[in-house]
Amino acid sequence: MTLNILFAAAQADWPDYETPLRDALKTEGLDADLRTSFAPELVDYMVYAPSSEVKDFAPYTRLKAVLNLWAGVEGVTGNETLNVPLARMVDPGLTQGMVEWVTGHVLRHHLGMDAHIVNLDHSWHHCAPPLAQDRPVTILGYGALGAACGEMLRSLGFPVTGWSRRPGDAPGIRRLHGADGLIQALETAEILVLLLPLTGDTENLLDATSLARLPKGAVLVNPGRGALIDDGALIDALTSGQISHATLDVFRTEPLPKEHAFWSLPNVTVTPHVASETRPRTAARTIAENIRRAEDGQPLKHLVDRARGY
Ligand code: NAP
Repeated sequence: MTLNILFAAAQADWPDYETPLRDALKTEGLDADLRTSFAPELVDYMVYAPSSEVKDFAPYTRLKAVLNLWAGVEGVTGNETLNVPLARMVDPGLTQGMVEWVTGHVLRHHLGMDAHIVNLDHSWHHCAPPLAQDRPVTILGYGALGAACGEMLRSLGFPVTGWSRRPGDAPGIRRLHGADGLIQALETAEILVLLLPLTGDTENLLDATSLARLPKGAVLVNPGRGALIDDGALIDALTSGQISHATLDVFRTEPLPKEHAFWSLPNVTVTPHVASETRPRTAARTIAENIRRAEDGQPLKHLVDRARGY
C-alpha cells in the first residue's frame, strides 16, 4: 500500500528537500506519496520541524511516526496532542557542520587569533600560544554532536572531557556524568563547549554557581541552546573576567534583540544560529531509513524520550 508522507516543515524548505526525500524513499524501496498537503486523516508519516504550522496532531488519526528535521526537539516534546513516536534528527551533514564550527571557534580562542587579526597599533607582542595538549576542553552534552566534536578536538591533541547524563566510554576522552562529574568537568575547562539539549534539567545549568567553578578566564562556546545559560550570570562573569570570552550562537530570544547586552560587550561574539543545520541530501536518508524501519516493525533510530525531553 502507498504510504502518505506529509512534509510539514517550513514550506520554504520544500524545494531543497523534495528531490532528496523522493530519492531516499525510493532507495529504501518504499512506495510513497510525498506531499506538502494531505487530508490529516490520510497521513502515515510526517516530516516535521517545530516551526511547522502543524501544532495539533489530533486530526492525524492514521499517523505512525513524526520525523523531526532538527536535532533540537524542545519545541515539540511538550505537545500533548502528539502520541506517536518522535525521532530527532541525527544527520552526518549536520554533525560535520557542527564539528567544523566548534573546531574553528575553539582554535580561534586557543591560538588567540583575535590579537593578530585586529592589531590597530601594529604591536609586536611575541607570545606563542601553548600546544593543544596544554589546553583542556570540556564538552557538556556528549551525544551525537558533542562526541563528534570531542573526537575531532582529541585528534588535534586537546585533552577532552565529555560530560553526559549517563555514564559513557570513549577512547582517549575523560568521560564524566552526573552532578559530581559536572563539577570535575567544569574545574578543568579552559574552553567549555555546550552541546546539551534544552530540557527541564539543563535550563540555566550555566548559572553563577557553575560559572564560578570554571578556571578564571575560561572561554565559553555555546552552539547548544540559549536557555542553557543564565544570561545575567554570564554577563556578570564576563564583566569580572571570570569568563574571558563567550562565543554564542543560540539565544533565549532569536534573533537576539538589538538592545541585548551581548551585542555590546567587547568579549562576546554573537553568531546568528549558524553553527550547523540539517543538510537535505544526508538527512533524507536518515528519514527514509527510519520510515522503512517503522514499516518493518523495527524501533525508530534516534527516538526521543518524551519524559526525558530529548
Ligand atoms: P543528543 O545526541 O541527544 O545528545 C545530547 C547529550 O546531552 C547526551 O550526551 C545527553 O546525555 C546529554 N544530556 C542531556 N540531558 C542531560 C543532563 N540533564 N545532564 C547531563 N547530560 C545531559 O543531541 P545532539 O544531536 O548531540 O544535539 C545536542 C543539541 O545541539 C540539540 O539538542 C540542539 O539544542 C543543539 N543544536 C544546535 C545547532 C545549532 O546550529 N546551533 C544545530 C544542531 C543542534 P546521555 O548521552 O546520557 O543521554
